[in-house]
Amino acid sequence: MADRVIKKSEFIELIDRLLESYRVYAPVRQQDMTNFQEISAADQVDLSLANTTMSPKSIMLPQSETMFEFNVDKTSDQAAILRETEKDLSPRLIFGIRPCDAKAFQLLDLNFDTVAYKDPWWVARRKTTTLMGLACNAPCSTCFCTSVGSGPFAPEGLDLLLVDVDDYFLIQVITEKGEKLLNEEGIETEAAGAMKQAALASEKSSLQSIKSVVSAASLAQHDTKTLFDSDFWEEVQFACINCGVCTFVCPTCWCFDIQDEVHKDNGIRLRNWDSCMFPLFTLHGSGHNPRAQKLQRLRQRFMHKLKYFVDKYDKGVACVGCGRCVQQCPVNIDIREVFRLMND
Ligand code: SF4
Ligand code: SF4
Repeated sequence: MADRVIKKSEFIELIDRLLESYRVYAPVRQQDMTNFQEISAADQVDLSLANTTMSPKSIMLPQSETMFEFNVDKTSDQAAILRETEKDLSPRLIFGIRPCDAKAFQLLDLNFDTVAYKDPWWVARRKTTTLMGLACNAPCSTCFCTSVGSGPFAPEGLDLLLVDVDDYFLIQVITEKGEKLLNEEGIETEAAGAMKQAALASEKSSLQSIKSVVSAASLAQHDTKTLFDSDFWEEVQFACINCGVCTFVCPTCWCFDIQDEVHKDNGIRLRNWDSCMFPLFTLHGSGHNPRAQKLQRLRQRFMHKLKYFVDKYDKGVACVGCGRCVQQCPVNIDIREVFRLMND
């Protein structure tokens, strides 16, 4: 599929046209943060930061979502019957998603779209959503995507990848879904050699600027029990306050809790993000908690991402190197250091 090219000024018009047929999500400035949200006009988009504070995960897996509704009036013939809450599954476009976050969706597919279990809303949203990525010309000092199977210009998981080249975007067409979108919008101008050379030069310079490196490939060789029983967890957990920020900002954390809320005769069944860092996450009905101490909870987070996941799926670590947990942890716990400790 041939690469295309579009002037930035025309690209703004393209986004406004796409708003007629897609729900468009893009990075938007929100007071002191930039996050993905649904936009109503192209001029809301803010591409000035390397990445958003929160990942775009909530577009596919909302932080809080009503799954079902029910009635608890025992005199009603509808009592206790669960009705699926209507969802808007119309076509959506995520614009400005970085390659690491697109790869994270592929990792979440391993949990929500399997032979044994298919989450109906996850699957439907993945199907109706087009991912128009933006290559990272200037990665952050905390990015280590190149060590964990992604990269600032990596196409995996995307339908289209835009590369910022001066007054233009070079558009790499990755899937038929992406090509269909461009054809429908009449974006036909093929990228010339000079434009491709400029994009390649940007990619090279971006790759060279990534200085954070972790060793992910060797984790599969380490013994699980030895890692589990290692002394270094005591050192890592010391400052942790179990706030859960690392799990909420992470594009690959997928844990959730399901709760019923009843108001008079009407109830709703909600799915909310949860966190392995919270004591309630594993509290049994009996009162026993297998992860009552914060060391156990912190160890679970890192062992799941960097060892259990590796051994179960043989697809590398459950981390795309976005660096959000490194940037947002209030006590500076750094997953890159945990990689090192686990390898040592
Ligand atoms: S963000 Fe830091 S302090 Fe908060 S739970 Fe995660 S590791 Fe602990
Ligand atoms: S563990 Fe940290 S660096 Fe890895 S994907 Fe999650 S937030 Fe990003």
